[in-house]
Amino acid sequence: MASKTYRVDLDGNPIKPITICMIGAGGFIGSHLCEKLMSETPHTVLAVDVYNDKIKHLLEPDSLPWAGRIQFHRINIKHDSRLEGLIKVADLTINLAAICTPADYNTRPLDTIYSNFIDALPVVKYCSENNKRLIHFSACEIYGKTIGSFLPKDHPLRQDPEFYVLKEDVSPCIFGPIEKQRWSYACAKQLIERLIYSDGAENGLEFTIVRPFNWIGPRMDFFPGVDGPSEGVPRVLACFSNNLLRGEPLKLVDGGQSQRTFIYIKDAIETVMLMIVMVSLQNPARANGQIFNVGNPNNEVTVKQLAEMMTEVYCKVSGEPSLEVPTVDVSSKEFYGEGYDDSDKRIPDMTVINRQLGSLGMVWDCWQVDLLESTLTYQHRTYAEAFHRINIKHDSR
Ligand code: NAD
Ligand code: UDP
Repeated sequence: MASKTYRVDLDGNPIKPITICMIGAGGFIGSHLCEKLMSETPHTVLAVDVYNDKIKHLLEPDSLPWAGRIQFHRINIKHDSRLEGLIKVADLTINLAAICTPADYNTRPLDTIYSNFIDALPVVKYCSENNKRLIHFSACEIYGKTIGSFLPKDHPLRQDPEFYVLKEDVSPCIFGPIEKQRWSYACAKQLIERLIYSDGAENGLEFTIVRPFNWIGPRMDFFPGVDGPSEGVPRVLACFSNNLLRGEPLKLVDGGQSQRTFIYIKDAIETVMLMIVMVSLQNPARANGQIFNVGNPNNEVTVKQLAEMMTEVYCKVSGEPSLEVPTVDVSSKEFYGEGYDDSDKRIPDMTVINRQLGSLGMVWDCWQVDLLESTLTYQHRTYAEAFHRINIKHDSR
């Protein structure tokens, strides 16, 4: 999708600059959103996070064209009284803060529930009490499993979109039993969505909820032992990139049969920009009280296919040959531990977002290979040297 600038409204008049309190601004999505807001809008960002490595390039030096329009506040929202003050001075709050790596859901379920529900409560409360707009990031995970997944494997209704396409205002949220702690994240996200929705209904909170469907791209997660804990397990894109850079087989959990639709971060960010534009155009009704799926329904692969595509693209960008055994199967218990479970398939219905925001133009093609190529080129350029140094250290032991 072509990039736009967001400095004038539909009639060509300059848009009113607003101040955005962005919580979780130092993460994957936050860093791309901050970049976009700095380069293409007149808005100011109060960037809240415990880390700022991924937005350092936007914060220094003072000579950057957006100097003064982005301020970093190192705040842990669990316990910091400065949060309310920042929300009060902002026109809009965007909450991205979360524990959102599946390896944590079953191994650190308490932290996961606190992060995704309890820690988000003050954000909702301060927005509601101070009449401030809120864009809250939920997840596609909230849908859990598809209805079709409960049918026998070769049942014809499994091919019927009614049994798998995920619709904001129709589809149920289907989670596994409590002992499958994988669902701690989905359940916490569901409860905070319900709370925000209720606050809208009872107190008039103006909100928009975003459900991202596997956004991927540069700066996603971390590389274990390089810029993250060596025992950490990031999401699949970073897991596979890490395997490729280390020259080890990609691990297919339970055979890699689960299906996902992936969307490139820069395309997904355009939709968030449209939501922000609605606020700055003073036409918030289009986004207010809405829950939006944001994904690309045309871009579905199994995890196994993703592994094959990433291997092929990595060989091209790195010039290295493919391994003799490029993938290995691993059980979910071995990979994630007790209590893991999986979403079988995630195809977003895009009717609501196209109806509410689509008039500003959003057309996505199927661009799997392009998005993998730009992402893996970035990973290779950024990390190959670090992995080379690690290998030298290992070899000299
Ligand atoms: P991320 O982990 O890269 O970013 C989250 C950021 O929040 C991190 O920088 C982290 O330091 C910060 N944070 C966490 N707890 C905090 C706290 N207590 N105080 C201050 N900062 C804190 O994740 P992301 O991929 O950028 O995801 C952002 C949001 O989108 C999350 O709510 C996530 O659940 C949701 N989401 C993302 C995807 C995706 O495809 N990337 C999919 C589904 C949902
Ligand atoms: N997965 C895998 N190998 C890995 C990491 C993940 O096969 O090294 C699988 C995981 O079991 C899931 C899918 O990839 O089926 C997507 O995982 P991700 O961590 O990106 O999060 P999810 O989409 O489940 O929220």
